[in-house]
Amino acid sequence: MQAKSLPIYPAQKISSYLSLGVSSFIALFVLAPLATYVPGGYSFSGESVELSFPLRNGVYYIAHGGNSPVLNHHNVDATQKYALDITKLNRLGTRATSLYTASLTSYTIFEDTLYSPCNGTVSEAVDTFPDLMPPESDRKHLAGNYILVQCQGADVVLAHLQKGSLVVQDGDNIQAGQAIAKIGNSGNTSEPHLHIHARRENTGTSSLDGEGIAITFGEQFLVRSDLVFGQ
Ligand SMILES: [Zn+2]
Repeated sequence: MQAKSLPIYPAQKISSYLSLGVSSFIALFVLAPLATYVPGGYSFSGESVELSFPLRNGVYYIAHGGNSPVLNHHNVDATQKYALDITKLNRLGTRATSLYTASLTSYTIFEDTLYSPCNGTVSEAVDTFPDLMPPESDRKHLAGNYILVQCQGADVVLAHLQKGSLVVQDGDNIQAGQAIAKIGNSGNTSEPHLHIHARRENTGTSSLDGEGIAITFGEQFLVRSDLVFGQ
């Protein structure tokens, strides 16, 4: 049957009106709240900091990011509200060569070079924790190996770095795009990835507290499922 021969309003039976009622109920009371909830996740409020994307050698996939717990598991935390978890895709479009891999190097992002996201000063650099085999994680040292960089107006935390890979230390002045470490799997992490978040400068007493602010890269606010093509 050709589409043009179909009635615009097909005949309805009582049962279909009933199911229409159920569908309307679901649409109004289940989907509509979700629909209004998630779009809010694609924008931020308050201050933000503009940074250079800190990875350059491939296709990166935002596994967590945005302003909603639906898009970003960090969103419930005031400091990490706008944090991003960044993974990397291989040529097949997957994050690793197999699902239950026994090798960290089969994760595409493992040992990827991390570049400074801004011109700034390193205020903390930790490089002592081991890279763990998934699904093992370190719940005592959440960030694992990390670098805290004081950018303009913001302190930026880059976490889960590879042990022994840091090439900067406390007090170093660094430039945007300068190689500073490699991606690892230290701390409280389910697989190798880069965690990054920013807080308003000089708020907080450790790398994991303070007043979280949004990050933009090239004025883009990245959210879950976004792809970044590194150069
Ligand atoms: Zn994270």
